[in-house]
Amino acid sequence: MEFAWSKEDAAFRTELVDYLDAELTGDWSRSDGTGLGSAVYTEFSKSFVRKLATKGWLTPHWPQEYGGSGQSAWQHFVLGEEMWKRGEPRGPQYMNVNWVGPAIIKYGTEEQKQSLLPPIARGEVFWCQGFSEPEAGTDLASLKTRAVRDGDEYVLNGQKIWTSYANAADYCFLLARTGPPGSRGDGISVFLLPMDTPGVEVRRIDCLVGEHSFNEVFLTDVRLPHSALLGEENNGWNIVRRTLAYERVGAPRYARAALVLDGLAEWAGSRGLLDDPGVQEQFGEARTLCEAARVLVYRVIDERAKQKEPSPLAYQARAAMVQAERAVGDLALDVMGSEALVEGSLGDAQFRNSLGAGIAAGSYEVQLNLISRLILGMPKD
Ligand SMILES: Cc1cc2nc3c(=O)[nH]c(=O)nc-3n(C[C@H](O)[C@H](O)[C@H](O)COP(=O)(O)OP(=O)(O)OC[C@H]3O[C@@H](n4cnc5c(N)ncnc54)[C@H](O)[C@@H]3O)c2cc1C
Repeated sequence: MEFAWSKEDAAFRTELVDYLDAELTGDWSRSDGTGLGSAVYTEFSKSFVRKLATKGWLTPHWPQEYGGSGQSAWQHFVLGEEMWKRGEPRGPQYMNVNWVGPAIIKYGTEEQKQSLLPPIARGEVFWCQGFSEPEAGTDLASLKTRAVRDGDEYVLNGQKIWTSYANAADYCFLLARTGPPGSRGDGISVFLLPMDTPGVEVRRIDCLVGEHSFNEVFLTDVRLPHSALLGEENNGWNIVRRTLAYERVGAPRYARAALVLDGLAEWAGSRGLLDDPGVQEQFGEARTLCEAARVLVYRVIDERAKQKEPSPLAYQARAAMVQAERAVGDLALDVMGSEALVEGSLGDAQFRNSLGAGIAAGSYEVQLNLISRLILGMPKD
C-alpha cells in the first residue's frame, strides 16, 4: 500500500478545504439551534450540494456518462473525510453518492441509469434507505414487506422503520419480499420507489440522538411499474450485501472524532487537566483508535480504487470506526464531567454521535460476528 497522497489528491484536498472554509462559515449546521435532519439543515444541504455538483465535486468518482468525471475512489474519499469533519453538509446526499448511485450503476437498466443518476449527480434529489422493519433490523433477511406481481405492476404492502430522511426524500431504495414467506435472502428484491407514489405515508419518530430525522414509512397498496425493480426479481440480497459494504465505510467517522479530540485536548489543556497521566493515557488511546480506524478504512478504499470486489475488510474498518467514535465520546464525558451534558457542547454532540455509530449501517456486535467468521475463520455458532 502507498501511504503518501498523490500530488493530485493532495492538491484537491487543499482546494476543497479552502472552498469549504469559505462556504461553511460559523456554526452553519446549528445556527438556529437545529441540526442534521431538521428542515433548516435539509434546505441548507439542498443548496450546498448543488454548488458542489456545479464544481464537479458531488460524484467525481462516477463515470462521465452519468454525471461524474471518472476520478479515483480516493478523491471521493477525500471529499467524504472533509465533509464528515464539518458535520456532513451534504446531508442525505452522502448516501446517494456513496451507495445508491453505485448500486444503480452496477445493477440498473440503461433506462434507470439515464433517468435516475443525472439528478443525483446534479444534486437535485434525496434518497432514503428502506431496509429496517420493526421485526427485521440485524436479521434483515426476515423482512416482511411484500411486493406481489399484478400484470406489469407490483403491489407493495408493509412497514419500514428508522428510515432516516424519509420525510425529505424524493426516492426510497426499498427492500421487499417477492419470494414466499420464509424465503429469507432468496426472496428479496430492491425497488426504486418515488416517495410521492400514492399509498406511501411517512411518520416522524422523535429520538434521543439529537435532531436526526427518523421516520416510519407505511406502504399500503403501493403500485409500482416493473421498471421500478432494480436488478432481477429475488436477487435483492446480493445487491444489499454489496451496497452495505459501501455504506459501512461511507461515513469516515474517525475524521470527525479526531477533530473533536483536538477540541477536547484544547478544552482540557486550558484547565490544566492534561497534566494527569491517566487523562494523557485516555487521550493517547483515543487518538490511536482514530488512526487505526483511518488506516483500516484506507485499506477498503485501496481495494475499491483497484476495482476489486468488496471484501470482509469493510467489517473491520467499520468496527474500528465505532471504537474510535465511542472512545472519544467516553473521553468527552470523563474529561468534561457535567459540562458535557450541556446541549450542543462538544461532549454532548460527540456522545450522541457515538450512540448511533454502533447501530446504523449494521450493529457493532454483528460486525464482530462477521470478523470472527470471515476473517478469523471461527465457526458460526
Ligand atoms: C442513526 C441511525 C440511522 C439509521 N438509519 C436507517 C435508515 O436510513 N434506513 C434503515 O433501513 N435503517 C436505519 N437504521 C436502523 C439500523 O439499520 C438498525 O437499527 C440496525 O440494523 C439494528 O437493528 P434493530 O434496531 O432492529 O436492532 P436489533 O437487530 O434488534 O438488535 C438489538 C441489539 O442486539 C444485538 N444483536 C442482534 N443480533 C445479534 C447477533 N446475532 N449477535 C450479536 N448481537 C446481536 C445488536 O447488535 C443490537 O445491539 C438506522 C439506525 C440508526 C441508529
